[in-house]
Amino acid sequence: APEAPSHFIRQAIEHDLDQGTYASRQWGGQPGDGPSHAAGEPDPAKVRTRFPPEPNGYLHIGHAKSIWLNFSLAEEYGGVCHLRFDDTNPEKEEQEYVDSIRETVRWLGWDHHFADDPVRPGIRQPHEYFASDYFDFMYRAAEYLIEAGHAYVDEQTAEQMRANRGDFGTPGVNSPFRDRSPDENLKRFREMRDGQHPDGAMVLRAKIDMASPNINMRDPAIYRIRHATHHNTGDKWCIYPMYTYAHPIEDALEQITHSICTLEFEDQRPFYDWLLERLSEPRLLPDGHVVAGLLNAPPPRQYEFGRLNVGHVITSKRKLRQLVEEGHVTGWDDPRMPTLAGLRRRGYTPEALRLFAERSGVTKNGDAWTDYAALDAALRDTLDPQAARAMAVLEPIKLVIENWAEVFGSDSHLEPCEAPVHPHHPEMGQRQFNLGREVWIERSDYEDTPPKGFFRLFPPSVDTSGNAVPGSKVRLKYGYVIECTGAIKNEAGNIEKIWTKLIKDTKSGTAGADSVKVKGVITWVSAADGLPATVNLYDRLFIEEQPDAGGRDFLTVLNPNSLNTVQAVVEPSLASAQPEDRFQFERHGFFVADRRDHQAGGKLVFNRIAGLKDSWGK
Ligand code: ATP
Ligand code: MG
Ligand code: MG
Repeated sequence: APEAPSHFIRQAIEHDLDQGTYASRQWGGQPGDGPSHAAGEPDPAKVRTRFPPEPNGYLHIGHAKSIWLNFSLAEEYGGVCHLRFDDTNPEKEEQEYVDSIRETVRWLGWDHHFADDPVRPGIRQPHEYFASDYFDFMYRAAEYLIEAGHAYVDEQTAEQMRANRGDFGTPGVNSPFRDRSPDENLKRFREMRDGQHPDGAMVLRAKIDMASPNINMRDPAIYRIRHATHHNTGDKWCIYPMYTYAHPIEDALEQITHSICTLEFEDQRPFYDWLLERLSEPRLLPDGHVVAGLLNAPPPRQYEFGRLNVGHVITSKRKLRQLVEEGHVTGWDDPRMPTLAGLRRRGYTPEALRLFAERSGVTKNGDAWTDYAALDAALRDTLDPQAARAMAVLEPIKLVIENWAEVFGSDSHLEPCEAPVHPHHPEMGQRQFNLGREVWIERSDYEDTPPKGFFRLFPPSVDTSGNAVPGSKVRLKYGYVIECTGAIKNEAGNIEKIWTKLIKDTKSGTAGADSVKVKGVITWVSAADGLPATVNLYDRLFIEEQPDAGGRDFLTVLNPNSLNTVQAVVEPSLASAQPEDRFQFERHGFFVADRRDHQAGGKLVFNRIAGLKDSWGK
């Protein structure tokens, strides 16, 4: 395999491996604090990363990048990546989301990572963690901070706190509660824990610096009161840690080495480091004893990269939820949704998503936009070499071969034809189908009056100088050459049937195949053995490249034509297609059998994943 391009995160990892930064770090803490390793043992994983979604929605295309980055770096450097559910927010999290996230990560190709644990051989336990499992530790750490004078309970109202935080360029104002004694703070904090105060009455804040130029360092809140039931811990807690406090602790407990996140968190890094430093430093007690810190050194480090932004796509979970709840799409897995469940149903493969993520690069630029076309290119590049071919007629119109009985002896004769399953893979075998007197072809393959450069079907005519012009000759792909003799229209003037004559001895693959030269080759499915199929043709969900740019209401730029469902006729080989089987429909692009609605041997439903060529710019 070609060497993967280097980037700043890779360089940081290689630097740490070189220096042995984490080589002697030992599992610490107490039972139940983190993963179940024996305390005091060195961690055999050289690199530990994590993918930490909040289970408050479905994963989207941006997450695919984070998943790829974290898992592939861990794997490449002989380490482990944890799937961690960052479930510190009791109100918005649900089991449904936990399940779908787990399923998606496995689908993306990391199931082996779960099944076979390189660190604990023989233990087939997933590297799967829940932040809420650490609530006891987080609480203990908060008391530890209070005792050391690093945290205090603030009883200002939310408004007062906001006003006193100051602004960029204006220092904040110290809270009147800031200098309470550790004992007083501990007492209040325990009251918070014991449910003696209502939501919002007070918060625990880190005591850092209200004049810091970094607003995140102006005594951030680390615990708040929420009388809410949590999906994992039930009603055990009525106080919950803030994300900025919980996240570094989760990383440290799990012995993460490189904590990779998106650029928005750059300003949080000083607090991340501040907190882990406070929790890992030994402390001198008043009686002269020294107690070890709560966490092991060296701490994990945070690295930020520019998030993936994709044209014509929104990735905010809140906005995606709105699309679902207001019925603009059929659900989280609607094939037009940029959720991974939607992209999967649309037919995108884990391979294509991985190649797309890889090609989009790892940089410090947070404003870069990646063209949606790059996703389709990744799909084509990975699927074209392996997808089975098939013929499908998406806008069928009937074509009749009037001299059929004359050539083959009877109108009901069926002439067997065949085509390779894949043009470059003879080992994939041949597809069999029949040509008959009546076939379905694409409506667009016929013109009464051919425009310049049109080489498909048109009837005989008389030109401006009165000369007879014969009807066109085209090849029915893998079949015979036919000549157009005319067409029948209905009362409304629409074409109903096209009449043709077959030219004998011109069958593809026979000696006479080249006896008649044609400029046009058309795809077809015979009326005798073609199968009806529902085909969903998708277009972009938003007409604007940046649907929510500048605070625009993204609903105003929904594409009203994002789905066009047609009744098609497909070749018989598709009868046995299984849900999620992918094909190239000749001339049309890449299609997948819908994983929900398609039934092998029954109702056939295909979704167009992408066309054969890039049509996004047009
Ligand atoms: P939202 O803000 O819409 O709720 P989120 O980004 O907070 O979404 P999380 O579930 O917290 O979603 O994210 C899990 C991980 O995925 C985080 O590490 C986050 O940085 C990363 N991630 C989310 N969106 C992107 C993106 N567009 N590109 C790259 N990584 C992303
Ligand atoms: Mg989040
Ligand atoms: Mg976010």
